[in-house]
Amino acid sequence: MGHNVRKAREQVASLLGCDPAEIIFTSCGTESDNSAIRGAIAAVPNRKKIITTRIEHPAVLTVCRDLENHGYEVIELAVDKEGQLDLNELEQKLDDDTALVTIMWANNETGVVFPIEQIAKMVTSKGIVFHTDAVQAVGKIPINLSNIPIDMLSISGHKLHAPKGVGVLYVRKGTRISPFLLGGHQEAGRRAGTENVPGIVGLGKACELANENIEEENKRLRFLRDKLENAILKNCPDCRLNGHKKNRLPNTTNISFEYIEGEAILLMLDVYGICASSGSACTSGSLEPSHVLRAMGVPFTAAHGSVRFSLSRYNTEQQVDYTIEKMPEIVNKLRKLSPFVAQ
Ligand code: PLP
Repeated sequence: MGHNVRKAREQVASLLGCDPAEIIFTSCGTESDNSAIRGAIAAVPNRKKIITTRIEHPAVLTVCRDLENHGYEVIELAVDKEGQLDLNELEQKLDDDTALVTIMWANNETGVVFPIEQIAKMVTSKGIVFHTDAVQAVGKIPINLSNIPIDMLSISGHKLHAPKGVGVLYVRKGTRISPFLLGGHQEAGRRAGTENVPGIVGLGKACELANENIEEENKRLRFLRDKLENAILKNCPDCRLNGHKKNRLPNTTNISFEYIEGEAILLMLDVYGICASSGSACTSGSLEPSHVLRAMGVPFTAAHGSVRFSLSRYNTEQQVDYTIEKMPEIVNKLRKLSPFVAQ
């Protein structure tokens, strides 16, 4: 293994509080999720049940639904209107047939954070393998895997300012997992294929930078996010917050605007040089309302009018103030054009 890749492995491990040998570099978050799920169930072929949630990213949900066609029973846990899980329901579903529980750390559309420490303890104490898609959480909230019994965890580089096309699958020492990609001996035989060295080096550096000031950045982002959110909710009529107000990433807010399309808001924001996304960037362009908001019982029209604002270390208070100034103007303009609003 080259010096650069070794250093990056140490930088990632340091951010996660784990051993560098537990880090496997992959090509993206999707590969990490697919490898974790398929690798874990292949290691326990006699168990035929997978437990997940309704609001996972498609990189998890689509795999689970595919496995449903191949003899697996998949349980998708429901969430309440604030996007939270019922942990009693999870506990009741765990049994000797459960091969894997895969539950995301933070939701990519609403930012809602699940109590992963409690969930990991509950699942692994029953001898069941636990995977978490932490793509949205890593680098945004402090994570220390030396204290939490998570077996596998997925990361995507570009969510923490690394280049696109690199990811990580953390696999705790002793976890049984069959390799997903077969071929050469890279990554100690756990993930064949030539490594994306520039991507890996970038991811290592991004982890180091995230690690340096995660607590202060957390506070700064929470302040800016709350300022943005409170101003929009106050200044724009007929809008609502989607997600739990407290149990959330510090940088994300998801707001539904009645009577108008989220996509239309995005186009107008774009004219002012403001980037946001409708629900999730990963599903934008689709006419289906977000499966996450629908699972939370957000009415169809409000789900269609949803916008996710997410802030990063590169955003300033000036940019937040500018967005606060533009939003009522955009919403009013679009409502004037809306066939659903009496003019
Ligand atoms: N999981 C979550 C929660 C995500 O938000 C994303 C991407 O947006 C992924 C998985 C997929 O990661 P990637 O785009 O690196 O494949």
